[in-house]
Amino acid sequence: MSSIAERLDAIRATIPAGVRLLAISKYYPVKDILEAYNAGQRDFGENKAQDLVAKQQALPADIRWHFTGHLQSNKIKYIAPFVYMIHSVDSVQLLREINKYGAKNGRVIPCLLQIHIAQEETKFGFTPEECLAMLASEEWKELKNVHIRGLMCMASNTDDTQQVASEFVAVRALFDEIRGRWFADDEEFDTLSAGMSGDYLVAIESGSTCVRIGSSIFEG
Ligand SMILES: *Cc1c(COP(=O)(O)O)cnc(C)c1O
Repeated sequence: MSSIAERLDAIRATIPAGVRLLAISKYYPVKDILEAYNAGQRDFGENKAQDLVAKQQALPADIRWHFTGHLQSNKIKYIAPFVYMIHSVDSVQLLREINKYGAKNGRVIPCLLQIHIAQEETKFGFTPEECLAMLASEEWKELKNVHIRGLMCMASNTDDTQQVASEFVAVRALFDEIRGRWFADDEEFDTLSAGMSGDYLVAIESGSTCVRIGSSIFEG
């Protein structure tokens, strides 16, 4: 049996400098998160607004709380005061709503656009074409209380490593294209959130800058 701290160390050893490790704590209690915190982990992600709020209140103030689940507009107000980054923006309407609550809280909220790349239909996100069309409309430029920092994706849930790799490579190419077309002057367009416990090494090889790992940290 290994501990959370030992598993974190083992994972860190496989992650190059410049790639952020985000601990996805959605299924795990405050006590486990604190153990990871005491081992130096500061970035945590949750998929439900109410869990993000409850855990934020129960845990040290210097944790960076990321939101990685499907976000309903009526939940934005709960997380807007403190959320460090929202990884799962999947419509311009949602971006507009986040902008509204950013303004109410006197903040600029960092956001990633979620790209639907996997073969499963159940996953949320823009298709690459929808994402390019949304950016081309340039409405987002008027939204001063959100800051688009990059893209997020989930690969197909399959053992076919070739398939997964080709999806990550495609999203990295989309990231580079979008950066070149709309964010060439924005050094903070720097985040490609890709890779989970089962596929993060493939994601890093394909150009991920932020891996989201849950079970490999919190489960033995
Ligand atoms: C649950 C989840 C993860 C982590 O998954 P593991 O397989 O436990 O590492 C990463 N990203 C998102 C969006 C998730 O919902």
